[in-house]
Amino acid sequence: MPSVQPISSDPSPTTTTLGYALFATRWLQAPLYFGLVAAQGVYVYKFFNELWTLVLRCVTGQATETYVMLAVLKLVDVVMIANLLIMVIVGGYETFVSRIGLQGHRDQPEWLSHVNSNVLKVKLATAIVGISSVHLLQMFVDVHHTSRHSLLWGTVIHMAFIASAAILAYMSGPMAAQAERQHAHREHTPEEPAEKVFVPAQAASREDEPSAEQRMRAAGFPARKLLEDFDFEHPRSFDRETVARLGKLDFVTAGRNVVFVGPPGTGKTHLAVGLGVRACQAGHSVLFASAAQWAARLAGARDAGRLAQELAALDDHAVLIVDEIGYTPFDAETTALFFQLVAHRYERASLIVTGDRPLGRWDEIFGGPTALAMVDRLAHHAEVVRIDGDSYRMRRATSAWAD
Ligand code: ADP
Ligand code: MG
Repeated sequence: MPSVQPISSDPSPTTTTLGYALFATRWLQAPLYFGLVAAQGVYVYKFFNELWTLVLRCVTGQATETYVMLAVLKLVDVVMIANLLIMVIVGGYETFVSRIGLQGHRDQPEWLSHVNSNVLKVKLATAIVGISSVHLLQMFVDVHHTSRHSLLWGTVIHMAFIASAAILAYMSGPMAAQAERQHAHREHTPEEPAEKVFVPAQAASREDEPSAEQRMRAAGFPARKLLEDFDFEHPRSFDRETVARLGKLDFVTAGRNVVFVGPPGTGKTHLAVGLGVRACQAGHSVLFASAAQWAARLAGARDAGRLAQELAALDDHAVLIVDEIGYTPFDAETTALFFQLVAHRYERASLIVTGDRPLGRWDEIFGGPTALAMVDRLAHHAEVVRIDGDSYRMRRATSAWAD
């Protein structure tokens, strides 16, 4: 068999290096966020200081009702500023420096999984409005000691905060929609009928943007399975939160991979197709095939001397699904083809893979020198979802017997 062909590299190495160097400067920001963590510590100290004074005054009977109310508002104020800080620290770091990589940790705040600079701006503006309301309330509670001038300006500034938050929220809608449109445009692909799914993509005009339905037909799904139809209670053990988060498709935009691992019949293909259907509905192009079919397709392209073109053509698809890894072992040459596929899409476009055994045992499936490198790249930036339980097919068979 002929050896695997090299994949064509980027247009200009100098441009790429410069780009990478510039991109790396974002790490200069990292220490700033740790500085803010120190500021967070200062607020914790301030909070307990205030609390201690309040408790002391109450115990010694020096606290009037107005004093208590003002002191409590001050505590609320400190907490709200600390909240604002954490939002800037975590959100800013995630948006502008690097992914924190908590892989959907259970404690992850709700806003983090869909954070982007637009969302962050709106969240911050609302947090500032919250803080300014507390300040205004403090002024009104202590109205006898507040000058008319301070009251007037306090109210005006608060109104300005509200107006700017409203404008930001209003603008973030069209901006998000525009980003979505641009993304859909980039992902635009011509349609191929399902039965001709192995023909490389051809150019198409922009006017006939495919519909979600056309994208689903072109994807070549074995059956139309929806995430909504998946019984999340059936598997014995399985990370429901991760799958729910994957359903929001952030992994597609981030070019990350998803690996479903579990025994037969536990719904791996169902989940992979479910995510694929969601991606089609969101305007992405998807292509589904079994691992054996992918092996045949790539080997065909290699034998025809156009593997590089084939891999480039597959870039038109934001998501490729490789189903049923593990049912047939692959020799060194086929493994090298999978390595090319995984390396080509690495950190740029997604792969959803289903398999019957954990990645640690993939040396039983893939042979040759590229096996380890392939698994390594696939697993890096991948969401690995392990499903354990009985086959859903067997469950249906048993209940049919019972009937
Ligand atoms: P696997 O790929 O893990 O072998 P499949 O995804 O092919 O399993 O699932 C087998 C059948 O059982 C499919 O028809 C699928 O829709 C169904 N199924 C599996 N798990 C579930 C589940 N938890 N809820 C609903 N249907 C399920
Ligand atoms: Mg399957």
